[in-house]
Amino acid sequence: MSLKIKIHRCTNEIGGNCIEVRTKKTQIIFDFGMPLVNPDKTEFNFNKYKTLSNNELIKQKILPDIKGFYKDKHKPINAIVISHPHLDHYGFMGFIRDDIPVFIGEAANELIKISNIFTPSDVILENPLYYQHKKTFVVGDIKITPYLNDHSAFDAYSFLIEGEGKRIFYSGDFRGHGRKEFFFNELIESPPKNIDYLMMEGTNIGRTKKNKTEKAIELELSNLFKNGDKINLVYQAGQNIDRIVSVFKACQSTGKILVLDVYLAYVVSKLVEITGSNLPFPSKNFPNIRVFFSSYASKQIVESLGKEVLYKFQPYKITKDEVDRNFKNIVMVVRPSLNIHLKGLKNIDGGNLIYSLWEGYKDKGSTKLFIENLINNRKFNYYYIHTSGHADVPTMKKMIKGLNPGKIIPIHTFNKNMYQKLFNNSIVKLDDGVTFVC
Ligand SMILES: [Zn+2]
Ligand SMILES: [Zn+2]
Repeated sequence: MSLKIKIHRCTNEIGGNCIEVRTKKTQIIFDFGMPLVNPDKTEFNFNKYKTLSNNELIKQKILPDIKGFYKDKHKPINAIVISHPHLDHYGFMGFIRDDIPVFIGEAANELIKISNIFTPSDVILENPLYYQHKKTFVVGDIKITPYLNDHSAFDAYSFLIEGEGKRIFYSGDFRGHGRKEFFFNELIESPPKNIDYLMMEGTNIGRTKKNKTEKAIELELSNLFKNGDKINLVYQAGQNIDRIVSVFKACQSTGKILVLDVYLAYVVSKLVEITGSNLPFPSKNFPNIRVFFSSYASKQIVESLGKEVLYKFQPYKITKDEVDRNFKNIVMVVRPSLNIHLKGLKNIDGGNLIYSLWEGYKDKGSTKLFIENLINNRKFNYYYIHTSGHADVPTMKKMIKGLNPGKIIPIHTFNKNMYQKLFNNSIVKLDDGVTFVC
């Protein structure tokens, strides 16, 4: 009798998480993400493989070979547990047969549904089962306790996994400097006891920079907004809710109007509806949030959700002309697909462009074109204001100190060899696809 771990992907790379935990009776997969990189560390592009059959994808090692996972003749595995709504943790869920129970946070599932409306993909979880912070659930003879954590994705969890007398903690993706730092602190201050193995993500291992806090980002933004009479365009990930809150708060403290396009307006409104949280969203309570009806997002909303959803934002609508006229008071969250609308704004040239994403994306595709056009042709001033969605090394050390695990298993990192030097713990380095007996 023993608990086994088989990491199908993520022992030697950031992203593409797929972790199997099993007892004799029960087999569970934690996360089924799309990889971010190829084995040679170049960028992974699924479009290249789109036409291949499942069998061919398994043969080429794009999909892991797990019996009972896809539509095959085997009996289905017992469950899949998704930690958070980032593609590198759920992006391959479209391949899964639909008789496997999928456990996920409710808001996380909503964010996946929303992504599907605006960027159609095959990932629709048919009958998700919602887990909750610190509410243990049982699958076969494995017990799972989710812990809401701080991460750049909304509704992100770590898990205590118990079976065959062993206790494993899977960190998921985490940090301790965002707007949910309370949950990280709560975890390390009253941690689950007697952890045998900590599977801990190490995205930032190998990077020496200490992370700024999300609050520091808010302050940097307010300092910029306060000075000058320019429009401020903030280019950020649409579903980085912590960042939207930072931008909102910076607007509030400097008397600016925050313009969200209907896509973002829908995202925050939906999260408020589901979680009852006090996130800022277009409503009477937040009069300085206005909604820009971008054409593509409006069309997708009408087609997928109905006109009524669009009407809901009508009272807060801001027109293109109003943005152009009132540019000095406006902070607008943007992305490349909005360029078509920015084109028509005559007065905004020479404004501030705040790039608020990982710098690695900056030199690629539509992002590169979008930024270059604003800087070169429209004389925007470029600012980089961002902080990582992942823990820095001091925060990882806090997690280790709090959880006090017997051993650490490196995951979600390009530098598993550095764990030994950084942490005074026994490290178990695993390889993809190899079974480890706890
Ligand atoms: Zn990740
Ligand atoms: Zn993530």
